[in-house]
Amino acid sequence: MDIGIVLAQIDQTLAQAGQIRQRAAMLCQEAARSKGVTLDLYAETVHKCRSRWSRLSRLVCGASEGLSRADTTILRQHAREALRRGRLPNRPPDRTYGGHGTGSLCTICGLRTTKEETELEIEFDHDGSIPGWVRHYLHLRCFAAWEFERTKVAPEAR
Ligand SMILES: [Zn+2]
Repeated sequence: MDIGIVLAQIDQTLAQAGQIRQRAAMLCQEAARSKGVTLDLYAETVHKCRSRWSRLSRLVCGASEGLSRADTTILRQHAREALRRGRLPNRPPDRTYGGHGTGSLCTICGLRTTKEETELEIEFDHDGSIPGWVRHYLHLRCFAAWEFERTKVAPEAR
């Protein structure tokens, strides 16, 4: 084989190796950037969830969105009733979504949610004889009342 051709091939191979190295370095940078973005998103999501849950737990503890003590008492009665009649399970939901009201009927108070109100959509994975998901819509305040009653009930009374 002509030495010139061999040298040309070596040059070409070296050039390709260089390109591959450059590309690998770029991919590494890209991966590091993606990791950073993912971690930022994760931190943001955790923060959002935490503040949402701390708001919920404050509501559960009695402080609520402009509700009087009497309103809270009535809502808790509704929540107890829903639990007793089995309209809502006595366990934490498997999925919880929150947002503006969509006009859905609230399982606890029977009123429709409005755009101005916070609506929670809670879902339970059916583990009994009927497979699938059971979905309920609740006002935030009704969810808080249910959460309060659900966690208050003594184990022997369940
Ligand atoms: Zn309600």
